[in-house]
Amino acid sequence: MVIKGGEVIFNTVHLPESWKLSTYVANGGYAALRKILSEKTSAETIIAEVKKSALRGRGGAGFPTGLKWSFMPRHFDGDKYLVCNSDEGEPGTFKDRDIMQLNPHALIEGMAIAAYTLGTRRGYNYIHGEIWETYERMEAAVEEAKAAGFLGDNICGTDFSFHLFNHHGYGAYICGEETALLESIEGKKGQPRFKPPFPASFGLYGKPTTINNTETFASIPYIIREGGQKFLELGKPNNGGTKLFSVSGHVNRPGNFEVPMGTPFAELLEMAGGIRDGHTFKACIPGGSSTPVLPAEIMMQCTMDYDSIAKAGSALGAGSVIIMDETVCMVKALERLSYFYFEESCGQCTPCREGTGWLYRVIHRIEHGQGRPEDLDLLSDVAHNIGGRTICGLGDAAAMPVQAMLKHYRHEFEHHIEHGKCMV
Ligand code: SF4
Repeated sequence: MVIKGGEVIFNTVHLPESWKLSTYVANGGYAALRKILSEKTSAETIIAEVKKSALRGRGGAGFPTGLKWSFMPRHFDGDKYLVCNSDEGEPGTFKDRDIMQLNPHALIEGMAIAAYTLGTRRGYNYIHGEIWETYERMEAAVEEAKAAGFLGDNICGTDFSFHLFNHHGYGAYICGEETALLESIEGKKGQPRFKPPFPASFGLYGKPTTINNTETFASIPYIIREGGQKFLELGKPNNGGTKLFSVSGHVNRPGNFEVPMGTPFAELLEMAGGIRDGHTFKACIPGGSSTPVLPAEIMMQCTMDYDSIAKAGSALGAGSVIIMDETVCMVKALERLSYFYFEESCGQCTPCREGTGWLYRVIHRIEHGQGRPEDLDLLSDVAHNIGGRTICGLGDAAAMPVQAMLKHYRHEFEHHIEHGKCMV
């Protein structure tokens, strides 16, 4: 798998043992943390810098990070928590795993800076359950940071203390939903909570909590070291910085690529070696399986940033780009996606629990030559009645791919129903 280095997070991945503290420090690591501690930089100043950078949450939602940090109550007399969501479990996502494998100290330093800013003394890094080596790599990195005085009590000889714990999940996709993740850390069944209240006021153990994605935290040291303006200028307005794109599917060189926000999709595709030999580009899921599919001709006009992909009718999500060539049957592809959401629904609310199963069964029968003419309207109706009627976003995530597939590839579904087989 290809790893393409960039300026912010993968800047040292070409070096031997890039994950070691010595490599990180030799390349400017922990300078940002030392600076804010020695200068006693105010929380307001740090939050203003993060706002200026236009860093948006890299876990999928794209919410402005500086704004999220400003929601944390400043003068709260009690425990507050910081949580990193490293539970990437959506089909197509694999960037956070490589950040933790190749540059774990960027995440640790980013969390320490956030903890100082938000006034938290304890943080958790929730790691997806199926990646044991990554968990062990993070454990080793936390131990290195503690031994060097970058974590624990009296960091860098100051009165700032921050204790960071890696928490290994058990592999449930729904634990990537922030409130399910909090329940899981608390030792309960990983099921989403009703919101409001939001985690900023009622989070881990009912205390104010800020949750960010791995890539988001790992971008923070650069912003503090080099300035929010420089980070912003790496990308484009409202879409600051670089972004890791995980390119998978029918390309010659799948992998993780750190490129500036706003890079033309065509360039990213070229970096990934183009469509596998002798085939043509058919469609792309631009941000992970929950984001709507886009046909090749639309995708080739896009730049890789939140605004361009949204304008095209999809979402940048976590930047997990799934490429499909002309051999892909969209009915089969949707059957697989629908099965995933059916399997991963936590079952708490009726539209999701029943609706995801209903979607899967209808698509399954179309795929297997038993579709009925009325099935396409039925799919639209069920998807419509899931969307916006559930506790968390999994219901929407299951419904949106169905609506997008029917919008762009309805003729393939009609062919399946009429002829009982694929048209590709
Ligand atoms: Fe659970 Fe689905 Fe409801 Fe989310 S939408 S709470 S996954 S049943």
